[in-house]
Amino acid sequence: MNKMGLEEYKGVYVFAQQVDNELSGIAFELLGKAKDLAKDLDTDVTAVLIGSEVKDLADELAAYGADKVIVVDDPELKEYRTEPYTHALASVINEYKPEIMLVGATAIGRDLGPRVSARVATGLTADCTVLEIGDFPLVAIPGREQKHNQLLMTRPAFGGNTIATIACPDNRPQMATVRPGVMQAIDKIEGAKAEVIEFNPGFTPDNKYVEIMEVVKSVTDVVDIMDANILVSGGRGVGSPENFKILEDLAEVIGGEVSCSRAVVDAGWKPRDIQVGQTGKTVRPNVYFAIGISGAIQHVAGMEEADIIVAINKDDTAPIFDVADYGIVGDLNKIVPMLTEQLKAVVK
Ligand code: FAD
Repeated sequence: MNKMGLEEYKGVYVFAQQVDNELSGIAFELLGKAKDLAKDLDTDVTAVLIGSEVKDLADELAAYGADKVIVVDDPELKEYRTEPYTHALASVINEYKPEIMLVGATAIGRDLGPRVSARVATGLTADCTVLEIGDFPLVAIPGREQKHNQLLMTRPAFGGNTIATIACPDNRPQMATVRPGVMQAIDKIEGAKAEVIEFNPGFTPDNKYVEIMEVVKSVTDVVDIMDANILVSGGRGVGSPENFKILEDLAEVIGGEVSCSRAVVDAGWKPRDIQVGQTGKTVRPNVYFAIGISGAIQHVAGMEEADIIVAINKDDTAPIFDVADYGIVGDLNKIVPMLTEQLKAVVK
């Protein structure tokens, strides 16, 4: 492992994920966080944009906080494939030596991040929910050197029963994958421009890359719950898959989407892609209705950042009321239809 010349590594870098030449939301979220970190380190933010004919996306990255954009553009990078993307990102790191490299914990990022970290001989903390700059170890320990301005990477550990803060003091870059939906993008700065640097480490066409024969996209008209402004979320207390109809009626009246707890997914009532929580999705809607959900820590971890939380539960000691802005104690079978009727009159 490289322990020499750590001070050569400068800047906060973000892997700007794009699919079909459209930037993914996580790219903007990471830029928002990178800006905070860069401010603390008195450095700048660089987005690494990898793909084929993607240069035009640089302005959008600038508008969300990138000071520089390094573009690796090659026909070999049209669709995501592990090997050429790993080669591209690892080559950027070896050439430009970032101090911090952030990657989204998306399906692509979870594949790419660990391979790149192994190739550039550094560590990676996966699935982070909090990133900040600080001292490591957190408190001075006699006989142990305390380093300043380290990236402190926090993530749930041991099945969510504890929270671990991890640092990478002896290697660079400090790498993390970050959960989508946790960090916040900055407001768009119209007309912002970044310095664009084109870099191509070279790709050999016959190098046994996986060949993509066909891309089959799943066809669905369901909105991703991570994009919804209003979520009507049901738990085991809803009682049956059929009874979710009362939640769907409420969601329809207020223009929301239905989501659920893990108990509901485990029971086979709803699919996993609408599960909220630590092993589901992290959501940040304007309004989150928690209906028949007890408020287990693993569920709350995925929805506590909602602007307004409304809890409906028959048990007035349910922990969901600790995080709720509005609580209604009673039987959801009576309350939800009444609420739907009342809101129908208001919303029209
Ligand atoms: P319950 O805890 O059974 O709560 C049902 C609630 O409904 C109760 O509070 C009850 O009072 C109320 N109720 C019942 N009938 C009515 C009624 N008629 N009217 C009103 N209220 C009623 N959970 C998640 O949700 N997401 C995750 O991502 C997740 N990840 C996990 C990861 C790990 C490693 C582990 C160990 C657990 C995880 N869990 C997760 C599970 C979590 O611990 C809880 O078991 C789960 O959230 C409980 O779901 P629930 O609130 O729907 O059910």
